[in-house]
Amino acid sequence: MKTTACPKCGNFVSRNSKQCPYCGVNVSKRLDLKNLAVIGVVILVGVGLASTLQRKSLDTLQLTSELAYEGEVADGKANGKGRMTYRNLGTIEGRFENNSLVGTGILVTPDGKTRKVTVKNGNIGFLD
Ligand SMILES: [Zn+2]
Repeated sequence: MKTTACPKCGNFVSRNSKQCPYCGVNVSKRLDLKNLAVIGVVILVGVGLASTLQRKSLDTLQLTSELAYEGEVADGKANGKGRMTYRNLGTIEGRFENNSLVGTGILVTPDGKTRKVTVKNGNIGFLD
């Protein structure tokens, strides 16, 4: 019969037994440590996933004296749905990547007019 020394009393006990027959201490520690390692990995993966999901947050950014953003932010930049306000032009609502409008946005001018806009070569272009 294979035996192992009890970590508490030092008596030799069968490896198959979960409890030391002399002092009653749990001798299946190896299995416990394995379970702890698995739990640790599960927790690490969970924390990693949570931080990935939290990386995008709602925030306001003052990008320049002329330019402010309010909406989804990641890596300190406009990344996601939001509203970019140009001091002299108005507010563009749309989807942004690295502070730049992607696709079509809706511009609301300071006098309340609504226009479709897009960004080409870094410039705002009107689509209507
Ligand atoms: Zn023992």
